[in-house]
Amino acid sequence: MPPAAAGFTSVTTLDEERIRELVRFTARTLDTGQPVPFGALIVHTKSGERLMRATNAVMRENDPSSHAEVRTVRLASKKLKSPSLAGYTMYSTCEPCPMCMANALWARLDRVIFGATIADANFYCLQIHIPAKEVARRSDMACLVEGPVLRELCNTLFTHPNMQKAFRTWSSGREKPGKP
Ligand SMILES: [Zn+2]
Repeated sequence: MPPAAAGFTSVTTLDEERIRELVRFTARTLDTGQPVPFGALIVHTKSGERLMRATNAVMRENDPSSHAEVRTVRLASKKLKSPSLAGYTMYSTCEPCPMCMANALWARLDRVIFGATIADANFYCLQIHIPAKEVARRSDMACLVEGPVLRELCNTLFTHPNMQKAFRTWSSGREKPGKP
């Protein structure tokens, strides 16, 4: 039987490869003084050409809105000299929060594909509990949101010892791990 009953998914092996590449890129921060588990990547939907990638810089920039997805959209739009990223796909190591998902919709991205979930991240840091798919569903913009993809791999960014140590210094960190 085809897996149609489980629901349609547009996720391809190429999407998975890009999540892997993004995890490797994000993991580079783990050996720095300011490790983060959050990274985002924007590629051209049809050609696959990479436009921009960035990691969370809330601590580095002292800016609570400097989430990886917002930064990547900001840098990508500046590079294109356009506020529209129609024709592009964004990957994120973690499900976009409502701020990031709303920004992705305003940017008119075609697709958003994420690794770990908001619930996964909430085990280590504070979250706003509105699923990215719900934010997209309740908007006027068409954006295909897919995930979790390679969830376990993305979760290794959170469980890395350097990351665990850093979470204890975050203002949004949890003193005690939450319930999974
Ligand atoms: Zn966010």
